[in-house]
This record gives sequence, structure tokens and C-alpha cells, in this order.
Amino acid sequence: MEQKPDVVFVLGGPGSGKGTQCRRIANDYNFVHLSAGDLLREERNTPNSQYGELIENHIRNGTIVPVAITCSLLENAMNKNVAKRAAEGDTNFGSGRFLIDGFPRNMDNYEGWQKQMADKANVRFVLYLECPQEVCMERCLKRGQAGSGRSDDNEESMRKRLVTYFTQTLPIIELCDKSNLVKKVPAACCEEEVYNAIKTIFEEYYPKV
Ligand code: UDP
Ligand code: MG
Repeated sequence: MEQKPDVVFVLGGPGSGKGTQCRRIANDYNFVHLSAGDLLREERNTPNSQYGELIENHIRNGTIVPVAITCSLLENAMNKNVAKRAAEGDTNFGSGRFLIDGFPRNMDNYEGWQKQMADKANVRFVLYLECPQEVCMERCLKRGQAGSGRSDDNEESMRKRLVTYFTQTLPIIELCDKSNLVKKVPAACCEEEVYNAIKTIFEEYYPKV
């Protein structure tokens, strides 16, 4: 039987550092980093996408796009990357190692993943970047001022994103915690310090040879 790819979900509030830390993990532990938000933004920017407007409305309002769209983008990206690494002869990548950043964000996402992907991937754990909301807010506003170009890095969208996070995403993290899947890392300190804690976790599961 064909092996399934490994998946690590990376969750935490908007601005908790998911993207930043995922880029480092991907680099050190041979993972492919898939940001659900980036995949949605890419789909939104695709000319003639039938979902462009719907996605942009959700992003601005900090609400969650229906899972069928997000999960299919994730599955396609996983398949593409497995094929690409195989073509490159990257045997170390095996059947795949994926960091899925910013998903699942609500019950719809969680159930949609179970339905569409549970048989096709092994979720090894959930990396949870825990960060106070004031720090999240400050980081995203700074990122917006520095020209992130994101239509949701403004105070109004941020308030909505935080509400969605606390009411919909945190319960998913709690649900995963009941199955002992959650690895919590304090994420309010500097990038280096957060990454050191993350490395300890990854070394245990994916020791470098
Ligand atoms: N989003 C979504 N489903 C997902 C991931 C993202 O609907 O699985 C939307 C949602 O509106 C969210 C926005 O995309 O507020 C930005 O997500 P991203 O992960 O880029 O934000 P971050 O948490 O990294 O700040
Ligand atoms: Mg992000």
C-alpha cells in the first residue's frame, strides 16, 4: 500500500507567527509549507476564478471560507508537491511532509478535512503558537504599515479576525488537545526563542540524521 504524507497543522491567532516559523521549519526539516491563507489569496487573484469575490469577502471580514474550497486547494497543492519532489528524486521527502499553516480554523474545516483527507494523510500533531491578542494586534498592524498589502492587516479586519479566532479556532485546538495532538509553544517572545522551542518538538518526531 502506498504511504501517506505526514501533516502537521500549525495554528495560533492572526499574527502569532505561523508563517515566519513555518518557513524556518520547512527549511530545516524538509517540509513543504502550505499556508491555507496564501492558497486562498492565490485563488482569489486567479483571473476568472469563480471563488475570487467570495474569498475576498471572507478575508476582509475575518470569516472562514467554506471548507470544500480550502481543502481542495490544500489537496491539490499536496499532490503537486509530492509529484514535484518525486520528479526531483528527493527520496528524503518520502511520501511527503507538509506543514499546513492556518487550517483547520473552525468546525466546518475540521469536519471537511476528516471527510476529504483523513484517509489520505497522517496528521502527526498540531503545533499551537500561543500569543496574547494585544501582541497579535500590534504585529499585524505593524505588518500592514510596513506594506504587507494584505486587505485584512487593518484594525477593523483584525478585530474580526481575533473574534473568529477565539470563538471558532480555539475550540478546534481544544478538541485536538483531547486526543493529545497539541504541542503548545509560547509565541509572544522573539522569533529565535520561539523557534528554539519548536525545534525541540520537531527533533523528537523528525530527528536530523
Ligand atoms: N482563511 C480561511 N480558511 C483558512 C485559512 C484562511 O477562510 O483555512 C481566510 C480567513 O478569512 C482568514 C484569512 O483567510 O482570516 C487570512 O488567513 P491567514 O492564515 O493568511 O492569516 P494569518 O492567521 O496568517 O494572519
Ligand atoms: Mg499567515
